Amino acid sequence: MSKSSIIKHTFTYLPRKHPYRVITEEAVLKDWNPNGWASTPLAKMCSFQWAYRGQILRMIRLEPDNARKLIYAANCYPTGFEAKPFTLFCRNSLGCPWCLVRKAVDVYKQIKEQAKIQNLNHLLCWRAKSVPIPANIPGSSGQIPLPFFRGDRGPHYWAKAGLTIQTVVPAYDINLTVRHIGFQLVQMDKEMAESIAVRYAKAGLAVESIDAKDRDLLMKTIGTYFKVPWSQLLEETCLPEFMQLRTGFKHRNLIRVSGRVTPNPEEATNGKEERT
Ligand SMILES: [Zn+2]
Repeated sequence: MSKSSIIKHTFTYLPRKHPYRVITEEAVLKDWNPNGWASTPLAKMCSFQWAYRGQILRMIRLEPDNARKLIYAANCYPTGFEAKPFTLFCRNSLGCPWCLVRKAVDVYKQIKEQAKIQNLNHLLCWRAKSVPIPANIPGSSGQIPLPFFRGDRGPHYWAKAGLTIQTVVPAYDINLTVRHIGFQLVQMDKEMAESIAVRYAKAGLAVESIDAKDRDLLMKTIGTYFKVPWSQLLEETCLPEFMQLRTGFKHRNLIRVSGRVTPNPEEATNGKEERT
């Protein structure tokens, strides 16, 4: 098989409670059913992958010089299933559904790890209003109008959090937008809950709290926050927005972690990095 061809993956289910499966189903597949026929996650996956690849192929028509790179992106290793054969990751975490899920799973793992190390089981999850991305101007693409909060002011400080992870996800509201989201492990009492509610509302952040010990709820909630309107972004009419998403931010580090405590070597999992 030539290096510049689309690879056909075959999919088999991962265990039901596998973080990659839960988060992929929640963030990518749950709302995906454009033709109304795909009822199982596996059928949705096949249909979704071809829609995603269809959008990449449209990009190739407009940018034939980038064909090789774009084919590589189209072959990015999908998440949520055991997929064969193994293919490399494209590492475009805003414009690739699988690489965005990998980021979400990384967030899940850090929360799980830090909840244990810091003995904090109360998780605040928040999202800001989505904001438009300025149109790409040649030479100055990727102006993201969302400075992350610093560790010494903003939500990490307000909540006296043990851990705060902030990132952005694509959204769509007539135009392409991005949404600032955050996750925080905190020690919560009634007084804290009241002061947080006021400060977060003032900052325009919609906040909810969950029990991080409940692993199923934790995975599902994180998946919900990483949900992207792919059914819109993969439509032919959204090709310009899709291209903006893929090219505008690819070299930006769009995650900020405050307060992470390094685990003891014996506590750290030293297993192979999972790739599903
Ligand atoms: Zn990718």
